[in-house]
Amino acid sequence: MNVTMKRLELQHTWTIARCSDDFKDNVFVRLERDGLVGLGEAAPSLRYGESVEKTHAVLEQTHSLFETGDWLAYAAMRQRWEPFTESQTCAGAALDMAVLDWVGQKLGVPLWRLFGLDASQAPVTTFSIGIDTPEVVRRKIEEAADFPVLKIKVGLDNDAEILKAVRDVTDVPLRVDANEGWRDKHEALEKIYWLTDLGVELIEQPMPAAMLEETAWLRQRVSIPIIADEAVKRASDVPKLAGVYDGINIKLMKAGGPQEALRMIHIARALNMKIMLGCMIASSVAITAAAHLSPLVDYADLDGNLLIANDPFTGVTVDQGRLILPDRPGLGVAERI
Ligand code: MG
Repeated sequence: MNVTMKRLELQHTWTIARCSDDFKDNVFVRLERDGLVGLGEAAPSLRYGESVEKTHAVLEQTHSLFETGDWLAYAAMRQRWEPFTESQTCAGAALDMAVLDWVGQKLGVPLWRLFGLDASQAPVTTFSIGIDTPEVVRRKIEEAADFPVLKIKVGLDNDAEILKAVRDVTDVPLRVDANEGWRDKHEALEKIYWLTDLGVELIEQPMPAAMLEETAWLRQRVSIPIIADEAVKRASDVPKLAGVYDGINIKLMKAGGPQEALRMIHIARALNMKIMLGCMIASSVAITAAAHLSPLVDYADLDGNLLIANDPFTGVTVDQGRLILPDRPGLGVAERI
């Protein structure tokens, strides 16, 4: 196992309700056996107590697990690394991606086929517009002209200014993410009424994750779906959100990889909830891994690789917003030359 850190430079300073960044340091895993290399990526998130250093340390601890054992038995393998990755789920995601990439190559099938999915059913992805000045928001939207749906970040004190800048230049449907930014349920209710009138089709995490009662109150009063993001990490979090949120935003980094994301998809469906597949700022390794599951979801928000200027990899591509899954075995990612 080889573990390295790469700095991903952002095209624009990335601002959401809780932070602002110019780059993202992610950790990459390479697993090699029988001349095949499986790749995985961890995007540590401060919101969940993760860091590059802790992720690196956790990955080093799992090193010996991969020296023996049957990698094709990936579900069994996962049970062995999970105890190590509980506090840094992004590290588990990197391992899961790398093993599945290797398995797909060994069996000669792309991941979507390994999971029995139809690549032609991959959905459109939104392109996300971070919080910025009205001038920059307008410029970003012009750059995103190919995307039929946009995701707009709000949750600071300039929500009205941002939405006005957006609507000045485009009529496309919008999805809005407040990243826990509204702390008062009456404020959140007013904001959602106003957004609904502006053609917003869903609202993600309007209030802090811990405010379940307030969110349930909100849901009874609005007509657009409310989607949980920060309130849900893994499968065991999903049942308590039914009746509070209309759907969940699944991310490989929160879940701990594609295997756990699949469990979440099945649980959410059984509870009649909508499913969004989202991402952190990441290269084409992690975004492609998520894209392989996208035929199963209602909404895709898989643009993390498009927000960076120096993606070291190629993989999933986007055509007029639609995700085009690779046909190559495994993840189907390659190092950019
Ligand atoms: Mg979100």
